[in-house]
Amino acid sequence: MKSAIETFRNMGHPATRGRGEIMRILAESPIPLSPREIRERIPDPKPDASTVYRNLSLMVSLGLARSVALHERSRRYEAAMDGLHRHRVVCRRCGSIESFQPKNCDLSRIEKDIRGTLGFDVTDHSLEFFGACADCEGKQRGRR
Ligand SMILES: [Zn+2]
Ligand SMILES: [Zn+2]
Repeated sequence: MKSAIETFRNMGHPATRGRGEIMRILAESPIPLSPREIRERIPDPKPDASTVYRNLSLMVSLGLARSVALHERSRRYEAAMDGLHRHRVVCRRCGSIESFQPKNCDLSRIEKDIRGTLGFDVTDHSLEFFGACADCEGKQRGRR
């Protein structure tokens, strides 16, 4: 958290309470959050929605947060932290998102492929898996 505040200051942006809160909320959340969910978690007095949006894009440009498009309808944000690597599963039916820490995440073959095809040096990745969550699967089964 301290380093996030330093990053703000170093880049000439004051580390406001709102920014600190957003960083804390993102760091504590195991799943990416929508701007609305982030705002709901900020204690009162809440900043207005446009301030939250502005701060999120600032954090993305400073490399403190990542934006992920998990669902057609919403863009979500997560803290960009070293050493914390998660993959996500997204339910196509209800839109719920869960995350898990992969035990083994070896994508070297795909990365080699990308380098070979595009000459692009992969340093990181973000993986989402889509399907049906246990709840939705259960309902489906119950109906049959
Ligand atoms: Zn579901
Ligand atoms: Zn991975």
